[in-house]
Amino acid sequence: MVRRSMSPRLDFEAEAIYQYPEHLRPSLAELPRAPGVYVFHGESETLPLYIGKSINLRARVMSHLRTPGEAAMLRQARHITFTRTAGELGALLLEAQMIKAQQPLFNKRLRRNRQLCSLLISGSRPEVVYAKEVDFSHTPHLYGLFANRRAALEKLKNIADEQRLCHGLLGLEKLSAGRACFRAALKRCAGACCGMESVDDHNARLLESLSHLQVMCWPWRGPVAVKEQTDELIQYLVIDNWVWLGTVDNLDDAARLTRASPGFDHDGYKILCRPLIRAEHDIIDLSAT
Ligand SMILES: [Zn+2]
Repeated sequence: MVRRSMSPRLDFEAEAIYQYPEHLRPSLAELPRAPGVYVFHGESETLPLYIGKSINLRARVMSHLRTPGEAAMLRQARHITFTRTAGELGALLLEAQMIKAQQPLFNKRLRRNRQLCSLLISGSRPEVVYAKEVDFSHTPHLYGLFANRRAALEKLKNIADEQRLCHGLLGLEKLSAGRACFRAALKRCAGACCGMESVDDHNARLLESLSHLQVMCWPWRGPVAVKEQTDELIQYLVIDNWVWLGTVDNLDDAARLTRASPGFDHDGYKILCRPLIRAEHDIIDLSAT
């Protein structure tokens, strides 16, 4: 029987390295099996080809061989650099920031969205409000983040269809005084417009359908530090209003990062909301110290 000299993982690695373009192999050797952000550089020193993140830089970069698009990118690549982070959150935040700032050739284009809006449901009827006008990180009763007004109203209509809600009460259709809405006659509205159900019941069904889309207000009074640790590396991500202010190795240095200006950071919110609300990390409230 032949004894295998290497573990399956090393076999895989050896093969992956062998298949990799030769000029990139020295860069591969330096990549750690740790979280971070990696950059494929081409001829240009200023415009990178591709920026990505992983909890295992070495494995991820080696897997960039799978598609024709990736092969094209590898052919143009001259070398690979990386920045280690202490965890996945730090890698996600750094990746988003770097892609936004450097717009690499092979990353999907991230367009700034000036139309970002949400449904404000606190008064008698839903209202579309814009992130450029209302502070989404401190306004309660917001549901959903939409690319534009049309997408927000589309969502509202879909829920109305599913829940037989009244287009009149939702503000999607004008109601004439004393008359049921158009869809009530078709039995598509459960009849909150004509006393068939109470307005409270109607609104409760609306909120229930939207509850999973609720935009969470920033729950702390000021900035917090989120601790991440892998092996010997400890980092604190300083965050305020869902905005990443920076990363420090030492909590004493957190104070020099200034507070976030009001405004809503959609990328930061998408990356940070769930892990912070679920308290998956050690979170230090910096305004309490
Ligand atoms: Zn109706």
